[in-house]
Amino acid sequence: MTGSLYTRVVLTFLVSVIGGTILSFLATTWIFQDKLNENLQSNLLDFGQDIARIYETLPVHEAEMLISEMKQLNSYHIQIYEETDQFQTYGELNGQHPFQVTTEQVKKVLNGGRIQINGIDTIFLGLPIKTEIGSKAMFVEPLTSSSTSFLIKFIVTFLICSFVAGSLLMLIAAIFLVRPIKKLTEATRLIAAGDFNVKLNITQKGEIGTLARSFEEMMHDLQQLEQMRREFVANVSHEVQSPLTSISGFAIALKQEDIPDDERSSYLDIIITETARMSKISDSLLKLSLLESQSLQMRLSTFSLDEQIRRVIVAIQPQWSVRNIQFDLDLQPTKITADHEQLNQVWFNIIGNAIKFSKDGARIEVKIKQNIKNVTIRITDSGIGILPEDQKRIFDRFFKADRSHSQIYEGSGMGLAIVKQIVSLHQGDISVESEYGQGTTFILILPITTRAD
Ligand code: ADP
Repeated sequence: MTGSLYTRVVLTFLVSVIGGTILSFLATTWIFQDKLNENLQSNLLDFGQDIARIYETLPVHEAEMLISEMKQLNSYHIQIYEETDQFQTYGELNGQHPFQVTTEQVKKVLNGGRIQINGIDTIFLGLPIKTEIGSKAMFVEPLTSSSTSFLIKFIVTFLICSFVAGSLLMLIAAIFLVRPIKKLTEATRLIAAGDFNVKLNITQKGEIGTLARSFEEMMHDLQQLEQMRREFVANVSHEVQSPLTSISGFAIALKQEDIPDDERSSYLDIIITETARMSKISDSLLKLSLLESQSLQMRLSTFSLDEQIRRVIVAIQPQWSVRNIQFDLDLQPTKITADHEQLNQVWFNIIGNAIKFSKDGARIEVKIKQNIKNVTIRITDSGIGILPEDQKRIFDRFFKADRSHSQIYEGSGMGLAIVKQIVSLHQGDISVESEYGQGTTFILILPITTRAD
């Protein structure tokens, strides 16, 4: 029970209030102690000296009569000891306990000494008095006046009432304070169990509200992550399953003995192609995972970007020259500091896609434009284009737009995911502009100098 947040909040409040009240009482008394006593002390001394003077000037019985009729006896209590240890008291105590005078104190005052006690709760004066029949010891203490005792009672009652009322309010307020945290705890438990459809319904503002909204955002991200994980597993299984099915099918066919040689050779070619495809998928997955975990060290060097792109186009000449595709190059000479190998992969992928998705005899345009900080590369084709709803997803792993065409065009849908990762590692940006059926432009903005973080 003491472990629950509710109990802790309430206990913390009670301890703080009680502790705070005691501390502030002590501090205030300490600060005002002198001031509190100052008045009482000087009045007490004046009164004591007046009484002593009365005894010194008047005969004892007259002095006693005079004193017993004094109005100040409402405020003071007097004890007068004689040498014979007999004593007389003056003043109504009204329930207050008189100061207990010790024999030593009496002796000391009878011998002409003076006693003055100025404590927080005790103020007390002992004065010797001389009468015609000998010395007496007089002890005077102030009585708590009715207004003072009323004030004290008032303050104490006020403190108790405010403490009780505060505690009751705190008991109620703590329920509201703790409720959102209970909701969050319950939501965490549900999420851990795989249920992401949790509604928090926390409308509070302030820290708790911010926490609730961050929690909802985190819940949303986790849900997306879980969705991505499921899709990823499904995609990998699908991408691996189709080559495997085809490999096993052709392997079974090869077991037959009466297959003509040319058919056997074509079956083997298919098996080799499908194996290569699987190997490519696994390579791409590994590469992407390394890029995402940033465990791949960037090897930065300064090189000519236009030269690099030209070399890539030459390297894939077999892909475009057979299909009569032409390149229009507008490559502003640009020196860039980046990872040469990674950027090579970017150009192979994007220019490779531009060729793949273009019609025979089409033109592909590659432009490099440089400003002080960045270089912009635009690769435009007049191919099949990408639907607007697909444009947002082409950088996702395994995404292949336009499923009807995906049978014709080979690919695993991993290329642009890798490209995006490489570009963001270079602190760059990649975007796409496309019109379905008209063509596509990929726009890359790269910093001229990539910082090695
Ligand atoms: P793939 O290996 O399938 O080409 P990518 O990740 O490189 O994988 O591309 C993802 C998808 O984006 C492609 O399947 C294709 O649908 C679409 N795409 C990419 N580039 C182009 C382009 N230049 N023109 C039309 N569609 C494109």
